[in-house]
Amino acid sequence: MNFSTIKKTVGIVVFSMVAVSGFAQDIIARQAPSDRRLKDIRNVKLNNTAAIAADLNNPAGNIYTDWTDNLRSCSGSVPANYKVDLRGFCMPTPSRKINSNFGPRWGRQHEGLDVKVYIGDTIRAAFDGKVRICKYNGGGYGYYIVIRHPNGLETLYGHLSKQIVKKDQVVRAGEPIGLGGNTGKSSGSHLHFETRLLGQPIDPALLFDFEHQDVTGDYFIVQNGISKGNVARSSSTISTGSQAGGSTARK
Ligand SMILES: [Zn+2]
Repeated sequence: MNFSTIKKTVGIVVFSMVAVSGFAQDIIARQAPSDRRLKDIRNVKLNNTAAIAADLNNPAGNIYTDWTDNLRSCSGSVPANYKVDLRGFCMPTPSRKINSNFGPRWGRQHEGLDVKVYIGDTIRAAFDGKVRICKYNGGGYGYYIVIRHPNGLETLYGHLSKQIVKKDQVVRAGEPIGLGGNTGKSSGSHLHFETRLLGQPIDPALLFDFEHQDVTGDYFIVQNGISKGNVARSSSTISTGSQAGGSTARK
C-alpha cells in the first residue's frame, strides 16, 4: 500500500464518518419533536382516561346529589340551560321498528318507547355510564336496568330476558348489558326504552332516531328544566319551553 492509497482510504473513512454523523443528526433532529409529541399525546390520553374514570364512577355528579336504586328518587338540579351531549352514543339495538310511542296510552302515561326486539337479542348501553338499578319488577318492567350517564341522562331498558351487568358496574357505550325479552307486563318481546333527566321522562324519540339508527343531534338542550312545558324540536337541538317562563329563546 503506497501513500496515495492510504490517503484515499482515510479520505473515504472520514467522509463516511461525516456522512453518517450528519445523517444520524438529521434523524435525531427529526425524531426529537415527535418524541415529545408522543409523550404529550400519552399524557393527554392518561389525563383523559383518569377524567373519564372519575366521571364514570360518579356520572353527572354535577347535577345529581344521590345514588339510590329507586327509579324516581333522583335529587339534584339542572341549570336553566342544560346541554346534554349526545355524542358518543350507541343505539341500544339495531332494530328500527317502533311498536309503541311515548305518551298517553290506555289511560296512563307510557314513559318510554317500545322497540321490537326478539328474545335473546343483544341490548347495548346507549352511552358510557354506571348501572344504578338492576332489578326485577314482575308487574311492570320485568328484568330492567337503569344506567346513569355523564351527560346527565339516565336510560332504562325493560322486559329483558337476562341482565348481564350488575348494579354499580361501569359500562361503556355499546357494551352488551342484557338480552331482549318479554318479562314483566309485556305482550310480545320488545325493548321498553326510557330516557330520563333527574327522574323526569323525556320522549326517547326526541333523542334517538331508531329508524335511522342515529341521534337527533349532537346536543339536546333543556331549557328551564323539563318538568314544565312541551318538549319541542328546534333546528338541530331540542328545547323545552317553560310555559310559566314564556321567554325562552329558540333558534
Ligand atoms: Zn313500553
